Amino acid sequence: MPGPLIADASTDAFAYSLRQLRVVFREAAADDIGTELERMGGVRTLVVCTPGRAQTAQRIAAGAAGDRIIAVFDGAREHVPADLVDSVTRLVARERPDSLIAVGGGSAIGLAKALALHAPMPILAVPTTYSGSEMTRVWGMTADGRKNTGRDERVAPRVIVYDPLLTYDLPAGTSVTSGMNAIAHAVEALYAPDANPVASLLAAGAIERLARALRALADLHRESAGAAVRGEATHARHEALLGAHLAGRALDMTSMGLHHKLCHALGGMFDAPHALTHAILLPCVASFLLPASPLATKAVSEALGEGDAGAGLFALRANLGIHATLRDLGLDGADLDAVAAAVAPAAPEHPRKPSTADVRAILEAAWRGRDPSDD
Ligand code: NAD
Repeated sequence: MPGPLIADASTDAFAYSLRQLRVVFREAAADDIGTELERMGGVRTLVVCTPGRAQTAQRIAAGAAGDRIIAVFDGAREHVPADLVDSVTRLVARERPDSLIAVGGGSAIGLAKALALHAPMPILAVPTTYSGSEMTRVWGMTADGRKNTGRDERVAPRVIVYDPLLTYDLPAGTSVTSGMNAIAHAVEALYAPDANPVASLLAAGAIERLARALRALADLHRESAGAAVRGEATHARHEALLGAHLAGRALDMTSMGLHHKLCHALGGMFDAPHALTHAILLPCVASFLLPASPLATKAVSEALGEGDAGAGLFALRANLGIHATLRDLGLDGADLDAVAAAVAPAAPEHPRKPSTADVRAILEAAWRGRDPSDD
């Protein structure tokens, strides 16, 4: 059986650069982080994490790196508030680390990136969610209700240590929303203006793996009636983390589309939880954009094993038990108008240009929790 058609003769010219990166993917790899830190050349290392990952970060720092660790900062926050970056930048100026370790999800990795943007130094990332941020040179920072993002080689982690054991306690709800965030990276890579056959292969593989793994995790969670599932979930945890890695690579190789722009606007303006916002919006945005990209549509539907790509994303989300809407996040109609007005004028035009009314309709669908094609 031939694989999914993800490039054709008219679109398969491409160019991309690879950067210096070492990736380790192995159970208990975090216990041996000192070796990786030494290889990276870190001798005065600052560890950053969110409050929830503080114990894990302390354990990794104590066990692995000994006197190479100068401090553990456990105050990372979602959307990387600029005032937080300013205060940790003062800590950096005082303590003068030569390297950073980020332990956690996109919030910890995002803080490390913001610090490296101000004071360039290598980052070793130990991801514990499926955000994929560790794989990208994309940074983000939020100030005055606006989330700014950019790309810079200096923020791309130099070493990534994936230890699936660290994801076993990721709560079921966070796992599936974080996994949908990763799927969103892959979907947008497929119709990006700079989509290329390599990124598309990674993206299609990521969607397939993540969908399978997340369905399995959700099933296990349902069967266990909410009790923690560990051993049975081993395979799914590995698959999901690997899928997140592939999706992050695809995101790094391509430009973000309307979906990511909307999520960033909602995060900046309303502090909307990042992964859940992705999960709420993705089927709505993809149902609008995918019909304009037959190749992306084919890749998504084949990866999901569904005849209709947009409907398949709605079905996946429902299957994962994600039923939240933008209304549940506290937004009202005026908020939707404000987001549409902020995003539409500079919205990415690939694979189709959305009008302000289109963007408003997508947001309305995500607010009501229904498929825009119902209208
Ligand atoms: P997060 O990092 O805030 O983590 C969510 C919560 O889960 C936190 O409370 C954290 O302590 C907890 N947690 C993390 N790992 C855990 C584990 N293994 N077990 C139990 N709890 C765990 O959320 P996120 O969705 O990973 O990241 C969101 C942030 O990442 C946003 O700011 C977003 O903009 C950014 N992001 C950046 C990129 C990029 O390429 N730059 C990509 C994706 C996301």
